[in-house]
Amino acid sequence: MYIVILGAPGAGKGTQAAVVAEKLKAAHIATGDMFREAQEQETELARQAVSYMEKGQLVPDEITIRMVLERIAAPDCVNGVVFDGFPRNLKQAEALDEALVEQGKTVDKVVYIKVSETELLERLSGRWICRQCQTPYHALNSPPKTPGKCDRCGGELYQRADDTVETVKERLRVYFAQTAPLIDYYTRAGKLLEVDGEGGVDEVGERILASIGGSLIGQRSRG
Ligand code: ADP
Ligand code: ZN
Repeated sequence: MYIVILGAPGAGKGTQAAVVAEKLKAAHIATGDMFREAQEQETELARQAVSYMEKGQLVPDEITIRMVLERIAAPDCVNGVVFDGFPRNLKQAEALDEALVEQGKTVDKVVYIKVSETELLERLSGRWICRQCQTPYHALNSPPKTPGKCDRCGGELYQRADDTVETVKERLRVYFAQTAPLIDYYTRAGKLLEVDGEGGVDEVGERILASIGGSLIGQRSRG
């Protein structure tokens, strides 16, 4: 299965994509994580991407699309992929469709995690992430058991450089201008599953899995 997780910054894409990927035994491809990993290894890719990320803008399509197409050619992607943070505009969505069609595959479902703008702003300011396993925490809503340490793996927690108030605003602006139109694009393709993203992590996760499961049963009984 090829699933796209769509939603604004702070909607919980990363957390939920990991849950879905594990359940479906699919690879989890998070372009934001890939760029941040590249930054730590100081690669050429990172040098090109960093200035955009710092400003909260999209990394140019040619760089992003090339990176993703290389990644989906890897052997762990043959059984399916959960895309998180990609596609983020129409051009990327079309490039993904083309690449999958060439392999006789398609994006099966798109889960749109819907969260109100007020809630997004609150979540993004106060976010801490594990340096090792990328699990996100929130200073108020979901603090770690030991301050500064990951519950899952004991890794060090850090705040993303682009989680500052100004950059958060720019990321939301870019989202509404460039990424939100994909909701329409995938609705027209008959692939969109809208899920309420407010509530606890487990609660939202269950809604998503139920929605994917329900849509598959619907398909089978129709076919
Ligand atoms: P969030 O969705 O919470 O803003 P991500 O970790 O997905 O965070 O992305 C962080 C940054 O990485 C983005 O603001 C952007 O600069 C860059 N990025 C990630 N995915 C893409 C993409 N598909 N296209 C262009 N830039 C991207
Ligand atoms: Zn961790």
